[in-house]
Amino acid sequence: MNKNLRKAVIAGNWKMNKTPSEAKELLTQIAPLVKDAQCEVVACVPYVDLAVAVEAVKGTNIKIGAENAHWEEKGAFTGEISTGMLKEVGVEYVVLGHSERRQYFGETDETVNKRTKAVLKAGLKPIVCVGELLWERECNITEEVVARQIKLDLFDVSAEDVKNVVIAYEPVWAIGTGKVATADQAEEVCALIRATLAKLYSKEIADAITIQYGGSMNDANAAELLAKENVDGGLIGGASLVAEKFAAIAAAANA
Ligand code: PEP
Repeated sequence: MNKNLRKAVIAGNWKMNKTPSEAKELLTQIAPLVKDAQCEVVACVPYVDLAVAVEAVKGTNIKIGAENAHWEEKGAFTGEISTGMLKEVGVEYVVLGHSERRQYFGETDETVNKRTKAVLKAGLKPIVCVGELLWERECNITEEVVARQIKLDLFDVSAEDVKNVVIAYEPVWAIGTGKVATADQAEEVCALIRATLAKLYSKEIADAITIQYGGSMNDANAAELLAKENVDGGLIGGASLVAEKFAAIAAAANA
């Protein structure tokens, strides 16, 4: 990462883990361990944990994120949550387009784009996830796949708004599998994402956007990944559920 140009963001994606009381306990464990972190530390938690989580991190440097948000402000969308609801609770970040949502819940680049614009309009920060399937990597189309996702997911997002977007490069084959991308593979695609952003906006804007790596990042491999020029943080699943491991990743971003 290049600390002169952008701030590292280390974000946990808790997925469908932790009840509200468990969330409070985990955040209480994490808080003292990350209190000196120079990076942004975020915990993205299930909807029902959000209010408890926001309360639990008061007075700490941890920010709370949600794991999705709908694009409409309100209405007949049973089971969905609006950006206004998230904002009122005190959420600051929202994960969008995670591969599990694309894979299991019919998320498309079109809906990711709508959600991204709604989240930005509400003054929240989207963490927009992109990444190739194993099959796509084997067919040598990683570059095309990821560039296409960036263009579609950010369609019609203004230069002013895009400064509040965090991109998470998450190769789908590395998520929850223990198969981490090599630091060189992560750097290659994060650099490509930055080049795509530079074409869409400008080099200056692209240089200021935080691009995370996600996919089996843990306390053992974080330092090597984060040492790369274009890897500005991490979106962490499994390891974010263990306070010491998550804190060690945040410490690696400080180094
Ligand atoms: C994720 O959920 O975004 C993720 C990267 O998971 P894991 O770290 O468990 O691979």
